[in-house]
Amino acid sequence: MVERIGVFGGTFDPIHVGHLVAAVNCRHSLGLDRVILMVANEPWQKVGARRLSPALDRLDLVEACVQDVEGLEAGRIEIDRGGLSYTVDTLRALTLAHPTAKLFLIVGWDVASSLESWERWEDLRELATLVVVNRPGSTPPVSLSASGWRVESVDVPNLDISSTDLRQRALHGQPLEYLIPAGGVELIRARGLYCGGEC
Ligand code: ATP
Ligand code: MG
Repeated sequence: MVERIGVFGGTFDPIHVGHLVAAVNCRHSLGLDRVILMVANEPWQKVGARRLSPALDRLDLVEACVQDVEGLEAGRIEIDRGGLSYTVDTLRALTLAHPTAKLFLIVGWDVASSLESWERWEDLRELATLVVVNRPGSTPPVSLSASGWRVESVDVPNLDISSTDLRQRALHGQPLEYLIPAGGVELIRARGLYCGGEC
């Protein structure tokens, strides 16, 4: 049996139910054995734009939220590699580690639309099937298959949630409950994350 591995990359600063609902629905729709939520060490698109939370805090948050969910796991390859995180390097490492597996790279509409600005995107295109999920507030990407990607679309419940909104909510002391699984909310409070030093 060929293992089918989903890779869902993100900054996850913090992880939220929008990510998790997308991940479990892709796993279900495409019959994936597992989906790795791959935590970016230094996302090259975001570095310099704002202060990111430490990578290990973001990883621990993902772990806290997926530990009881079958088929989802947190990935730390990019953190262990260090430096800027390029998905092409991550998929290559996974290919070497699992030579017989079939890889699926999961992205939301916003990310899918800018894929061809990514580092060595032509190599990336050969390494995985792209899985595009809908995301409220963004528009579907145009004709990725025309530029040679193998593409699957998976319809997921529309959840208008972003980490940016959640960071603002935390900063203003608004509830995070149900937008982030309970274990994640607990960890955010225990470590005083996202409150601007006011908690
Ligand atoms: P930020 O606001 O900081 O950019 P984010 O919520 O967009 O955070 P990311 O870590 O940037 O989260 O996104 C990781 C991946 O998850 C991307 O492919 C993105 O399109 C997807 N994604 C994020 N939120 C949702 C959502 N609510 N529904 C579907 N996909 C999502
Ligand atoms: Mg984003």
